[in-house]
Amino acid sequence: MKTPIGYLAALLSILFIALASPALAQAPDTILLNGKIVTLDARSTIAEALAVRDGKVFSVGHADEIKALAGPNTRIVDLAGRTVIPGLIDSHMHAIRAALFYATEVNWIGAKSIAEAMERIRAAAKAYKPGTWLIVAGGWTPQQFAEKRRPTQAELVAAAPDNPVYIQLFYANAFLNPAGLKALNIATEADLGAAAKFEKDEGGNATGWISGSSAVITGLFDKLPLPTFEQSITGTKLFFRELNRLGLTGVSDPGGFNLVASSYLPLFRVWQDHALTMRVVFSLFAQRPGKELEDIQAMTQMLPMGFGDDMLRFNGIGENVAWGMYNNDNPTEAQKQQYYEIARWAASRGMTLTQHWNNNKSAHHLLDVFERVNKEFPLAPLRWSIAHMNDATPDNLERMKALGVGWLMQNAMYFGGEPFLKDRGIEAVRRTPPIMTGLKMGLAIGGGTDAHRVMSYNPFVSLEWMVDGKTVAGMPTRGPDETPSREQALRLYTQGSAWFTFDDDKRGTLESGKLADLAVLTKDYMTVPADEIGGIESLLTMVGGKVVYAAGPYQALEQSPGN
Ligand SMILES: [Zn+2]
Repeated sequence: MKTPIGYLAALLSILFIALASPALAQAPDTILLNGKIVTLDARSTIAEALAVRDGKVFSVGHADEIKALAGPNTRIVDLAGRTVIPGLIDSHMHAIRAALFYATEVNWIGAKSIAEAMERIRAAAKAYKPGTWLIVAGGWTPQQFAEKRRPTQAELVAAAPDNPVYIQLFYANAFLNPAGLKALNIATEADLGAAAKFEKDEGGNATGWISGSSAVITGLFDKLPLPTFEQSITGTKLFFRELNRLGLTGVSDPGGFNLVASSYLPLFRVWQDHALTMRVVFSLFAQRPGKELEDIQAMTQMLPMGFGDDMLRFNGIGENVAWGMYNNDNPTEAQKQQYYEIARWAASRGMTLTQHWNNNKSAHHLLDVFERVNKEFPLAPLRWSIAHMNDATPDNLERMKALGVGWLMQNAMYFGGEPFLKDRGIEAVRRTPPIMTGLKMGLAIGGGTDAHRVMSYNPFVSLEWMVDGKTVAGMPTRGPDETPSREQALRLYTQGSAWFTFDDDKRGTLESGKLADLAVLTKDYMTVPADEIGGIESLLTMVGGKVVYAAGPYQALEQSPGN
């Protein structure tokens, strides 16, 4: 007579045999065949086929050997020669905020003329009720328009006579139509506060454009009505789908202005509903001036470093750590001491820190603090980073390298090349940003955009700019010495970005055991003329082996999010 344990053992051995049977357990879920798979492995292998099982890359190789792995339930996808890349990762995108507003904002990303931009306003005015706010929250520059100028009040009023309109240009200007000014109770310049001005035409009449500091502009934005919780959930799903359409499967979010604790709730809801189609890693942006450390300590009591999972994870503090060292080229000793105390606390807790820093000339203030902390708590294992610093010089990059601090590099020059040339001259433009100098010294570098207020979120626009150095208006900038190859650029946007979130052993390349995050492209990124890179899209995007976006020949593979 068998004991219960004996029955259990017999049952387990049957189960074991069943699991070991190739048809039942070993077969891949999906096989991609007949493609050009840019694996980005150490040998830069281009493979023909790839098998996915349990959300991971199971095997990569020749078509015959991969095909032979198929079981009766394996989904076979014919790539028909198309190029596949590892899913792109933007290492510095304000994606959580962009997502909150995506369902209720108008965007001008990619609009080539004022007429096209106004058409988008007109279409939104038609789609929404009269009186509904129409908001363009950034992501554009006059340089992208054929007219090379900003729109006028007459153009805006013609496009949207019955809706209040707010248009933001970087963090420097806002543009309101008369209905918008009225809705915000702005009648005279005095209503704007001391740090802002109405721009006037030659006749002395207000043009509708307001100029002011970033605090003034974000203050104006804060007066606009917020989307509802439901609108923010819809926006989050739609925005991540839009990113999936462009081959993105991951993003690092550095917080930002207008973003408070409750702003994260729609994202958490989508995550809990298993409807996230992007891997989101986020850091906490300092909240109240003077109370930065207190706020971070309070928030992280229940949010330890690394909290979350492979879809949503907490990754330390920044890109604002202390207001006294945010966009301040001349911090006082007291401000540096305050920063040191916060940075030291973060390091002592094993936390990552990312810091927004624009200008190389003042970066020594920040690096001094980092080096001071490093004496007590080595920074290298914590993977800290400095974001932006387009004009970085080799000595500062060397100091970062010595600390094991990485560089988050974006295509700010794509919009900003012309003013930078005017300010700094051609020699500086040729070196900016010094991508190859950083790569040659072995610095960790992540690709990205800093979208969506100051830049388009399109990764292919950023990749095109990396390899051809041209601004949106077509002006050449970076010289050949600082121009990466296409493969190097792609590596920055995949495994380069993955390093900053401790994910370089999990994603960023297509090798067996890595997460099956990938995109099948409309054109071959590796060989298409450089000026066509920016127009590449994904036809099929997978996150963890799940189809999150499919179009054209692959449309039938699309599952609804959450399945
Ligand atoms: Zn920043």
